[in-house]
Amino acid sequence: GERPDEDLLEGLNPPQRDAVTYRGSALLIVAGAGSGKTSVLTRRIASLLRGREAWPSQILAITFTNKAAGEMRERVEALVGDSARGMWISTFHSACVRILRREAEQFGFTSSFTIYDSGDSRALIKRLVKEHEADAFGLTPAAVMSKISRLKNELADAESYARTANMNDPVERVFVDLFADYQRALQRANAFDFDDLIAQTVYLFRAFPKVADVYRRRFRHILVDEYQDTNHSQYALIRELTKPIGSDAEPFAAAGGMMIFDAPAEDDPANAPASLTVVGDSDQSIYAFRGADIRNISEFEKDFPGAKVVLLEQNYRSTQNILSAANAVISNNFDRKDKKLWTDVGAGEQIVGFTGYSQHDEAQFVADEVEVLRKAGVDYAQMAVFYRTNSQSRALEEIFIRSAVPYKIMGGTKFYERAEIKDALAYLIAVANPADEMALRRILNKPRRGIGDVTETAIARYAADEQITFRDALANASALGVGPKIQAAIVQLDAVLAEASELMLPATGELAPSTAVADGLQLLLSKSGYSDALRASKDPQDEARLENLDELVAVTREFARNNPDGTLIDFLAEVALVSDADDLEDASGVVSLMTLHTAKGLEYDAVFVTGVEEDLIPHRISAGEPGGPQEERRLFYVGITRARKRLYLSLAMTRAQFGEVSVAMPSRFLQEIPAELLSWRQSPGDVNSRGGTRSRALNARGSGFGGSGRRYGDDLVPKSTSMERFANRIPAKVRDNGDMQLAPGDRIRHDDFGEGRVDAVTGEGAKRVAHVRFDAGGTKKLLVKIAPIAKL
Ligand code: ATP
Ligand code: MG
Repeated sequence: GERPDEDLLEGLNPPQRDAVTYRGSALLIVAGAGSGKTSVLTRRIASLLRGREAWPSQILAITFTNKAAGEMRERVEALVGDSARGMWISTFHSACVRILRREAEQFGFTSSFTIYDSGDSRALIKRLVKEHEADAFGLTPAAVMSKISRLKNELADAESYARTANMNDPVERVFVDLFADYQRALQRANAFDFDDLIAQTVYLFRAFPKVADVYRRRFRHILVDEYQDTNHSQYALIRELTKPIGSDAEPFAAAGGMMIFDAPAEDDPANAPASLTVVGDSDQSIYAFRGADIRNISEFEKDFPGAKVVLLEQNYRSTQNILSAANAVISNNFDRKDKKLWTDVGAGEQIVGFTGYSQHDEAQFVADEVEVLRKAGVDYAQMAVFYRTNSQSRALEEIFIRSAVPYKIMGGTKFYERAEIKDALAYLIAVANPADEMALRRILNKPRRGIGDVTETAIARYAADEQITFRDALANASALGVGPKIQAAIVQLDAVLAEASELMLPATGELAPSTAVADGLQLLLSKSGYSDALRASKDPQDEARLENLDELVAVTREFARNNPDGTLIDFLAEVALVSDADDLEDASGVVSLMTLHTAKGLEYDAVFVTGVEEDLIPHRISAGEPGGPQEERRLFYVGITRARKRLYLSLAMTRAQFGEVSVAMPSRFLQEIPAELLSWRQSPGDVNSRGGTRSRALNARGSGFGGSGRRYGDDLVPKSTSMERFANRIPAKVRDNGDMQLAPGDRIRHDDFGEGRVDAVTGEGAKRVAHVRFDAGGTKKLLVKIAPIAKL
């Protein structure tokens, strides 16, 4: 008979079929770029579901970014429909957050823990370095931070590190103290940093085998994409999850001292380890600087004896010219297994090279070429521009804006790293997790309310003396021994936080309305005086900051629409996990700009790799590091293998960086590409003899060096079109409906959802909730006091 998954195998080549249908305990798929690794993983999941070999809830698939997770979920759903619900397809970090939310109470955290991103960690470490006067020992915050991160990725905690460190060395002693203090501060704040999310989950599984067994029993099929970029802690997590069930359950003493051996026999098939499938390409390992270890791939067969290995060699993404260039470049790395990627789609266009006079000239070339492609029928969404460092995007953005090319920066916007956004999130965190002292300290004097360092120290001291939290100390303003004005300011801040908590964290048993996060955020921004302070400011950047805050409110409303049951804590977790390779928005209809690191796993019809210069790619900092230049070559390989049909490699003769204009040299990688594959539109020799739009653009800017165009302040860079979608929808002020009377049967209009009819009204006072059935479909619970509604 026909296999239930026959259609899933359609069009696959024989090794791809093998990879989808193999049913052993361990499978390694190694293959070059564009050979279908991710596609095969997706089909394998679909095939397991289709054949009823697995429930969706038994599948755990790990991708490198949240965006990749979303895409994989969509594809699986397209193949098997609704039955895909309940699968865990996520990044390592997101999966660990979900596990920790359930289990945090096992080891001294609560499930409302905060996640510290690198900015938060840096702030905390900065404070500790200052307190320990560690800079006297040459320990900078950056150095401490990267060392702690590296140790955590290797699963060394403060205690185990102290045991191996040379404690005769005073620098080591200070570092060990710092590490331990940092960890204590996190624990006190009920917070995990990024590295902890993984490491603590591993510790949890090791310390509580029964908890580990719950997840081993649950996840029967584990699949990991981009395995070449896993670090040791991620590897350890996979190892824990793929142990046989009950394998490390210790007999435990039950009441009355009787020993209970409930670990079932290991050879019972019901206790067999989960099946593990990993895919990867060691030529695309680009995260060694974050502890990624290629050995996880090369030693897979040793780690999982009997593993099947599948090699894929046919590339389905790129033209032969692009592939030949990629093969030629990567073959310069020694210490690698030679892979021969081939394709049958034909040679395709030549690769286009361009050398600009300056980075502006280079950017103009890209913008012009984008328009040429557009007119030839290539969608903006099918074009991408890559660069090695974030700062290179500025020149591109300026020209794109002037040329009216719609674009979106993937990852690098750092929206969530902007000061005003971090402030607003700190307000939310202060509500969600009152133990988080860092968040409270951050908002103490934002906006300025006269609470300076002296008062902050007084609050901290009072908290320490009374053995209460920083938050509780705030609530005791009169006991702090500060002046009446400052006391009033503290009382006011405390009251705003309390009011927001009541709104956003409903008493047990009660559901917060889906819009509580948005409403609460608006309340916090308005009643704290934060928005007003920006509005009153004469600094033009403050207007952009206000817009960014509006955008954040829009994000919370969007969150409410997508997650009707989403809580404040869910929202904060989602935001914290938006890694630098991710974005909450999509990039349809716009050109994507991103770093080469962010480009991993993606593909576009047309790709521009810009700044192909020495000191950029390979980057200057790689020169002194062991394996550095080789990793840069892999990064370049990742970049060029993203292209399906068209590849452009561009550089500039001069580049303004850090306020200086310097002469740039072509990257050595360019010379590694066979000359016949490359056609130069513009080479250094003919810069002075060209016509057309480019020289006009150059003339218009005078010298062509940086600095003649308009400079945008960081916050003045116009936001991308997708952000503008949200403009004008958000009321500038928080709505206060007073105690608007509403009864079942009343009709209302909501700013976002349109007209509807009140079904019921529950709760009292400020927490009165209207249950509204909207004409456009769907019901919502709205907080009457502040929802953007009007009675009709
Ligand atoms: P990378 O190493 O860049 O992550 P990959 O090995 O994961 O690449 P995929 O992204 O899965 O490769 O596939 C590359 C492209 O080839 C995709 O557009 C995919 O749809 C297509 N593809 C894969 N296998 C086949 C096939 N058998 N027939 C036709 N197209 C295929
Ligand atoms: Mg892939």
